[in-house]
Amino acid sequence: MSKRDYYEILGVERDVSEKDLKKAYRRVAMKFHPDRNPDDKEAEEKFKEASEAYEVLSDSQKRAAYDQYGHAGVDQQGGFGGGGFGGGSGSFSDIFGDVFGDIFGGGGAGGGRGRGGPARGSDLRYTLELDLEDAVKGTSVKIRVPTLVGCGTCDGSGAKAGTKPVSCTTCGGVGQVRMQQGFFSVQQTCPNCRGKGSIISDPCGDCHGQGRIEETKTLSVKVPAGVDTGDRIRLSGEGEAGADGGPSGDLYVQVSVKDHEIFERDGKNLYCEVPISFVDASLGGELDVPTLDGRVKLKVPAETQTGKMFRLRGKGVTPVRGGNAGDLMCRVTVETPVNLSNKQKELLKEFKASMKGDKNSPKQSSWFEGMKNFFGDMKI
Ligand SMILES: [Zn+2]
Ligand SMILES: [Zn+2]
Repeated sequence: MSKRDYYEILGVERDVSEKDLKKAYRRVAMKFHPDRNPDDKEAEEKFKEASEAYEVLSDSQKRAAYDQYGHAGVDQQGGFGGGGFGGGSGSFSDIFGDVFGDIFGGGGAGGGRGRGGPARGSDLRYTLELDLEDAVKGTSVKIRVPTLVGCGTCDGSGAKAGTKPVSCTTCGGVGQVRMQQGFFSVQQTCPNCRGKGSIISDPCGDCHGQGRIEETKTLSVKVPAGVDTGDRIRLSGEGEAGADGGPSGDLYVQVSVKDHEIFERDGKNLYCEVPISFVDASLGGELDVPTLDGRVKLKVPAETQTGKMFRLRGKGVTPVRGGNAGDLMCRVTVETPVNLSNKQKELLKEFKASMKGDKNSPKQSSWFEGMKNFFGDMKI
């Protein structure tokens, strides 16, 4: 693929001045900046292309070489070759920081204080333990969250009632100071106001000038039906208040479903174990099995073996993201009778005498056959 002309990429004439070149680059780069075009590969490519073009054309030596020899004149000089954006190839991040420092605030998606005002408060996380029943059916719970809220006394300004923060004279209230460094003018956080743009000379007594105070908030959380461990519920704006009257962060409620004494959950299916007497297992019968909506009858056929799984369709969980309800899987385990009376023992002995190995317990018979062969082979 042949590379596009650098001047064409930036949309400028070949005799463009350094100043207009920078302007043109800012315009193109802002348009295709990854922060503004998340997950847009084409924009990312265009952004890289523009950055590369600017890197060459803004350097008078490289520009002269490019003018004379085209791409061949500058390609070997490296500096850019596939270095990748944001990876910190030296020259590139320098340009990035300098040119974008004053456009995108903090130079990247890492958050931090934007130039548009005070910083947003932190997000909070709260772990909400739920019973399985509540998680499956949905519920509404009140939670108490220790957080920072805007100070009511000073309305978040941090200044004592009757006074106001005064505009910082060092930066003229912008929070940033500009320093000339060679070709670039570099933005720096104002050392006097630490980027706030204002100074509080008389701080509010309640929040000590912070504009926010610690408080335990009581919040009502609506838990939708079907949530599972690991699901998050976002309460927008219920995180910490921002400093200096900045916007609040969000609160993330992290769901954790407690173990249940009967059911085990796996996604939308529920599992439970149901004991069955060896008589019912032999003759077949009807069992009462639990579901989250109460008991239901489960017909167990004659000659049911232990470990057999029965599926109750739709008796599982309806997933929170939609779709059909899962199933309830009942695994029966045959229980050996205990605390037998003499009479019962007699009956069982009588029953045992009536058993015809191969016919009544084929598994056991074949197992014994296998064992005999095993020892036979070993020739002890
Ligand atoms: Zn205050
Ligand atoms: Zn300042």
